[in-house]
Amino acid sequence: MIKHLVSIDQYDKKSLHNFLKSVSSEKYGFRYQDFTTKKQIATLFYEPSTRTSASFHSAATQLGHTVLPINEVNYSSVTKGETLEDTIKTIASYVDLIVLRHGEKGAAQRAAEVSPVPIINAGDGIGEHPTQTLLDLYTIWEKFGKIDNLTITMMGDLKNGRTIHSLLQSLKHYNVKINLISPDNLTAPFKYANGINISLSLILTKNICQQTDVLYMTRVQKERGSVGNYELTKDNVSNFKKNMIVMHPFPRLNEIPTWFDTDSRAKYFKQITNGLLVRKSLLRSFLDNASKN
Ligand code: ASP
Repeated sequence: MIKHLVSIDQYDKKSLHNFLKSVSSEKYGFRYQDFTTKKQIATLFYEPSTRTSASFHSAATQLGHTVLPINEVNYSSVTKGETLEDTIKTIASYVDLIVLRHGEKGAAQRAAEVSPVPIINAGDGIGEHPTQTLLDLYTIWEKFGKIDNLTITMMGDLKNGRTIHSLLQSLKHYNVKINLISPDNLTAPFKYANGINISLSLILTKNICQQTDVLYMTRVQKERGSVGNYELTKDNVSNFKKNMIVMHPFPRLNEIPTWFDTDSRAKYFKQITNGLLVRKSLLRSFLDNASKN
C-alpha cells in the first residue's frame, strides 16, 4: 500500500490497471459510501489551480468528508517565512490527508518525509502531477479499452509541463509509440522519457497526424519563462483518424481553438469529468488506510 502519492513512478503496470478498474467501479456506482468513517482533508495550494483543487474538494465532500481549504497561503504564516516542513506538520495535526500543490520541484517529497498523514502531490513546480496522469490514463483507457499499441503524440512545452513528465513516465509500462513535438528549447527532460521509444519533431506533420491515436496538447508555461506556441489547425484535423482523441490538461490558451470543442474527438472536457471520479477513487484508497503514526 502506498503511503504518500509523490510520483507516478510509484505505480507499476498492475497497480495502474487495478486503479483504472477502481475508477470504473466509481463511475458505475459499485462502490458504496461509508459515512461512518468521516475524515477531513486539507487542500494546501501554493500555486494557482482551478480543476485540481475544486475536484479534490468536490470528491471529498461527495464522499462525506470535510475539507480545510488553504489556497491563500499569502494570508498564512508562509509569508512570515515558515518552512514547508513546519506548515505540513501543523496542518497534519488537524486533518487526515493533505493535497499539496507547490511551486518547487521536490516539495511533495519533502512534505512526505515529515508528514504523519498521507501527502498527495497535486503538482510540484516543473516536477510531476501524478493525479493528472491517473485521469489522463483513465480517459485513454475508457476510450480505447487499452493503452498498449496506441500512438500517443505530446505537443507543447514538454520541458516545463509537469503533466507531460508524469504521463511520459507512466507510459514506459506500455507498448506505445510516442511522438514528442516541441520547440528545441522546450524538449522533455531525458529523465522522464528514459526507457521509452520516442520520435522527436519540431512540428505536427501530416504523417504524425495520420498515425496519432491520442494527441495530448499542453500550453506554454509562461510563468516558468517559456516562449513559443502551437495551435491546432483545420488542416491538422483533416488528417486525423476518425477514432483518435485530442486531450489537454487545461488551462488552454490558444492551442485548441473553440471550434474544435464540438468535435467528438475532443476529450478535454471528458478529462475534467474523469478527474472527479479519479480523485474520489484515490481519496477512498488513501483515507481508508489513513492512520497517523
Ligand atoms: N493544470 C496543469 C498543471 O497544473 C497544466 C497546466 O497548468 O498547464 O500542471
